[in-house]
Amino acid sequence: MEQGVPALGLSSPDGLLKTRVSLTGADLTTLRIGGEIRRLLEPRSESMLASMMRQLNMERSGFLVIGGGSNVLMTDGVLETPLILTTGINEVSVREDGGVVFVSCGAGVRLRDVLAMTVREGWSGLEFAAGIPGTVGGAVMGNAGTLRGEIASAVHSVRASRFDGRFFDFGDGMIEWGYRKCSLRDEAPMVVSNVVFRLRRSARESVIEETSRSASDRRNQPSGRMTAGCVFRNPPGESAGRLLELAGCKGLSVGGAVVSEIHANFIENSGGATASDFADLAQRCREKVIERFGIRLRFEIMTLGVSLED
Ligand SMILES: Cc1cc2nc3c(=O)[nH]c(=O)nc-3n(C[C@H](O)[C@H](O)[C@H](O)COP(=O)(O)OP(=O)(O)OC[C@H]3O[C@@H](n4cnc5c(N)ncnc54)[C@H](O)[C@@H]3O)c2cc1C
Repeated sequence: MEQGVPALGLSSPDGLLKTRVSLTGADLTTLRIGGEIRRLLEPRSESMLASMMRQLNMERSGFLVIGGGSNVLMTDGVLETPLILTTGINEVSVREDGGVVFVSCGAGVRLRDVLAMTVREGWSGLEFAAGIPGTVGGAVMGNAGTLRGEIASAVHSVRASRFDGRFFDFGDGMIEWGYRKCSLRDEAPMVVSNVVFRLRRSARESVIEETSRSASDRRNQPSGRMTAGCVFRNPPGESAGRLLELAGCKGLSVGGAVVSEIHANFIENSGGATASDFADLAQRCREKVIERFGIRLRFEIMTLGVSLED
């Protein structure tokens, strides 16, 4: 599902603001929907990110952020707001203290790569995350998780840059977590640059076993399709997928957007879907659930340059 990012294109004369003019939003999202990006910024380190943030702040141009693009619906028009792609901030270092292992990851490190390391080394704490695509920065911002756990439980600290390029370190006690919720999202716009996970040294076999168990939970999800994960959040004590299925949403389509036959909370781009196909289909599904159950589903998917009525 995830795809490597094509080779670097142009860089600006000051060497700071690199722009890959040829990349579109569709290249950067797992849904493969997204249009021209006027200005794509690709920091390769935290200091480069800080310089970029300072420059954007001076220009008063604002910014948006993307990691693995696995939880976003992006406009298929022109994205005028500068977009910061974090995947180049990808250093990893490890410190062990007794049986506790601190794994420090640049925000752009793929969660699956961290997980592969934990399985190889026998570090426990992230087994639940098997099969969650995207980067650690995106996982923190959405408190990514499954029925078996969520990222919050493994986070020791998070470093983020504010709009003016100043970095702040947040210990886990300084962040409020909830279901797919991280309080950093409520602060002034920030870019997560680094995440330190706190894991436990454990028996390798048990880490492998638990990770495989989590991976096998994915059998009821569409794989190898163009999706952005679950469209809607689960209402308290309910499953959005179950409500959508009972409301008859499986197989509904608008343009190239189709509700998955495998899991009703996934909308697939069956080819050529536009952002408005996706939004219209999501809205139809929501109306069907309201009609049948009187429950208004809230969006889990995030947006870049487009809005969904929540
Ligand atoms: C097939 C499939 C299965 C999935 N299964 C799950 C699942 O089981 N559980 C789950 O929770 N999710 C799941 N997802 C959704 C998605 O993978 C996760 O939400 C993931 O953590 C998003 O990370 P990302 O790097 O792709 O974020 P993106 O999609 O790039 O961004 C998501 C949001 O976070 C912001 N953001 C990203 N990085 C940063 C940063 N460094 N600083 C500030 N803001 C940032 C973006 O602006 C955007 O608002 C699934 C998706 C797919 C396609």
